[in-house]
Amino acid sequence: MSMSRIGDSQKRAVAHVALFPSAGIGHLVPFLRLAAMLASPNCQCRVTLIAVQPPVSAAESNELSTFFASHPQINQLDFHLPIPSSPSEFADADKPDPFFARFLAISSSVHLLHPLLASLSTPPLSAIFADFAVAADINRLADELSMPLYIVSTTSARFFSLMACLPDLILESKSSEDSSIQLPGLASVPISSLPPPFFTPDHIFTAHIRLNAQFLSKAKGILLNSFDWFESETIAAVNTGKVLAHLPPFLPIGPYEPCKAVVKAGSYLQWLDGQPNESVVYVSFGSRTALSKEQIRELGNGLERSGCRFLWVIKTTKVDKDEREDLQDLLGSSFLERTKKKGLVCKAWVEQEQVLAHPAIGGFVSHCGWNSVTEAARYGVPILAWPLNGDQKLNAEVTEKAGLGVWMRHWGWLGENLVKGEEIGDQIVELMQDKTLRIKAKKVKEEARKAYEVGGSSKKVLLEIIENH
Ligand code: UDP
Ligand code: UDP
Ligand code: UDP
Repeated sequence: MSMSRIGDSQKRAVAHVALFPSAGIGHLVPFLRLAAMLASPNCQCRVTLIAVQPPVSAAESNELSTFFASHPQINQLDFHLPIPSSPSEFADADKPDPFFARFLAISSSVHLLHPLLASLSTPPLSAIFADFAVAADINRLADELSMPLYIVSTTSARFFSLMACLPDLILESKSSEDSSIQLPGLASVPISSLPPPFFTPDHIFTAHIRLNAQFLSKAKGILLNSFDWFESETIAAVNTGKVLAHLPPFLPIGPYEPCKAVVKAGSYLQWLDGQPNESVVYVSFGSRTALSKEQIRELGNGLERSGCRFLWVIKTTKVDKDEREDLQDLLGSSFLERTKKKGLVCKAWVEQEQVLAHPAIGGFVSHCGWNSVTEAARYGVPILAWPLNGDQKLNAEVTEKAGLGVWMRHWGWLGENLVKGEEIGDQIVELMQDKTLRIKAKKVKEEARKAYEVGGSSKKVLLEIIENH
């Protein structure tokens, strides 16, 4: 792959990169940002974005259409999945997570991309950047097309390293008495921080990761939405071969640049405009995590007790299309009435980047989905980390270690404990009053900026990737 740059005496061919995200907003968002960065005047790549149709959630459909409308230079390659022959191979009781089910459906259809990618022209394709969730199958396809392959991580370097080691780990016999596991070259991982499905090798999530982890060695690199300063030890351990000899290098090129035009459309943004600087706590658990109704009520109670201003985004289902609950029924009209001067509750998509960038925001109660963490890093917003699923405890650990937040270790996984309003309220007050944490979070923002600025560590790595092939 090579690129033409202004001032190059020798004109080289333009690189053409195909980007292939798997399912879920947490996977789509970083790919859209990466696509926009590659197509920008800085990188000057031709970009084809593979859009799996139909997406699982309404949010994914919306993000895709907004993105293609505002980035006409990016080539949209719709990839229609074959309709399954039977409506579902699973009984209702053990229906898998819809996003995981989609991971499998996409993986098993990857071979159908062959003719679509082979026929790309103007200019012909020069590399594929694909989601870890399709690593095994895209590896075969890249081989057939003789195409360089990069794997895109949608999680922290820390969790990615753990996934890479998973095929070599035997976890079934581990108990909570084994307090931690030691991975070569890496800081030990507490047993309690491992995603619970990892203890069941044939769990759909675990099996899928184990499979894909076995196909990393042929990739030219692993693109990280992270930056050297943020996860220096993990990145150095992998890149000096201490973790797994066959693992390709980590290429930290984040935190990714937002790719959406700023639209002051949402009423919540106008509401934020009326609040004092750094006075509002933003509460959101990402795109696919639903708290129980009981936990939602405790959280509401905690917010009210804290006396802090708040912007709270509520989800009651994994997939947004299934949302039926009414806010009144969920929280009671008296709660909404009592708190309306202090807070705003939303039960719809909010433009989180714009919220976190808003000067009124002073803290973020977050599940530590990796996109949320990197966005908070970019804007220097302190996090009260309440990890609930999957990679989130390791992401919370990274957040805390970098000084970007505090992690409520004893609050447990989703559904494990009912965290009481009183405790939530106390922790929110501490978060909003913690001046030291606020200074540390600003330092993270500064380091993030240094990384993505011209000459910064992430920008250098990105330009090298484009130039060296
Ligand atoms: N997001 C958003 N508005 C919402 C919910 C989510 O903008 O109402 C964005 C958020 O900014 C982030 C992504 O969706 O970029 C969610 O990814 P993350 O990794 O934080 O969590 P996940 O949804 O995968 O659990
Ligand atoms: N910058 C960048 N990517 C971004 C945002 C900023 O590379 O997504 C760099 C860019 O070089 C710019 C500088 O950071 O000149 C200042 O950014 P910005 O205008 O966002 O400043 P702020 O609003 O944060 O003060
Ligand atoms: N997860 C889960 N059950 C659910 C929803 C999510 O176990 O119902 C966890 C899963 O263990 C995984 C994590 O969510 O580790 C993130 O999943 P994914 O790899 O899809 O990344 P994300 O969507 O958060 O970016």
